[in-house]
Amino acid sequence: MDGTTSQPVTNRRVNGVRLWDSLHEMAAIGATPKGGVRRLALSDLDRQGRDRFRELCEAAGLRVRVDVIGNMFARREGTDPSRPPVLFGSHLDSQPSGGKFDGALGVMAGLEVMRTLDDLGLQTDAPLELVNWTDEEGARFGRSLMGSGVWAGVYDPAVVEAARDLDGVSVGEALDAIGYRGPEPARPFAADAYFELHIEQGPILEREGRQLGIVTGAQAQVWWDVVATGQDSHAGTTPPGARKDALVCAARIVDLVDRMMRARGEDGRGTVGQMQVLPNSRNVIPGEVRFSVEFRHPDGAEIERLAVQFPREAGFIARDCGVRVEMQELLRMPAQPFDAGCVELVRQAAARLGYSSREIVSGAGHDAVYVARHVPTAMIFTPCKDGLSHNEAESIEPGEAEAGCQVLFEAVVGRACRSWTR
Ligand SMILES: [Zn+2]
Repeated sequence: MDGTTSQPVTNRRVNGVRLWDSLHEMAAIGATPKGGVRRLALSDLDRQGRDRFRELCEAAGLRVRVDVIGNMFARREGTDPSRPPVLFGSHLDSQPSGGKFDGALGVMAGLEVMRTLDDLGLQTDAPLELVNWTDEEGARFGRSLMGSGVWAGVYDPAVVEAARDLDGVSVGEALDAIGYRGPEPARPFAADAYFELHIEQGPILEREGRQLGIVTGAQAQVWWDVVATGQDSHAGTTPPGARKDALVCAARIVDLVDRMMRARGEDGRGTVGQMQVLPNSRNVIPGEVRFSVEFRHPDGAEIERLAVQFPREAGFIARDCGVRVEMQELLRMPAQPFDAGCVELVRQAAARLGYSSREIVSGAGHDAVYVARHVPTAMIFTPCKDGLSHNEAESIEPGEAEAGCQVLFEAVVGRACRSWTR
């Protein structure tokens, strides 16, 4: 494949200062006092961010269309109308107390790619489409990767549209309220590739002093809701043999999760991040505990094993404790390897530009993971300070944003302009 063995495009540089300015222009919409961003999906601030994004795209001569779940596609025509578009982008929504760069980096860097092509007076062979996916974070309606998930056919659009936030507002109502229920169907269309630049949201690149991560795929996951039911009883009068302490049972299961994770070495991930203790009184043995469990691993076979082993071993603990444990599996996502050709384009661009890089598996979910089910996909990570994300203090260096954007530019152009690079 000639596009992946190219020697293209030196002296074609994105404008790092303009990228940095555009990131901060977007960060001003929903800016928080501690330097972060609160731009919840389909809120009025999200509308303001979308409106601004649309204006900037139209000012760059891009044609913007919106699909029924609010995903935005900003198109730049190529010279060859028979070619499917090369897609790239990320998301503009944020966590309730999120950072300036999670998602916004990939979208604004995509705009910078378009602007750089304009500066250079270059038209690619294939058309280009910059995407802003709706509600990546899942913070408001409880379903992350919502827009890309509907687009990819992972979620039933009717179910998603009816999902409500804590105030009772549905996704459909929120789309109408901000005017972003578009006319286009949300479903996969023929596309040549998808590239997404994102902050790492972890500590590995910074720790190793690397400028870039070449993301080879995303890890497999399995999630449960667990309810442990024992018996409420008096803390002072109930002797050991008569106790059915749901919290002791839950604590042993938390330890089990940690042990099963550590048994898998550096690649293991296992977390109990949520717990509700009932009745939550210091004088009552807890009769019920509700908690979350999740495991992740780059190797899907490990997750399949955990999906069997964990419920079985948790069941043994429950029996020992005299407590009933019910588990509902919420999600099981296979590992998603990215496309070898697209990953290779990213690797070559990083090497040619002299950036220090390493291969990395994404620990977090991203829109790219669902898009990859239909379109050849790769991701590029930039380091973030202290590995911190989903936090107002989230921070990256301007030079890192520029390096990531430059590699995005090279990968997109490499894919869209095969005739330039033969
Ligand atoms: Zn993100």
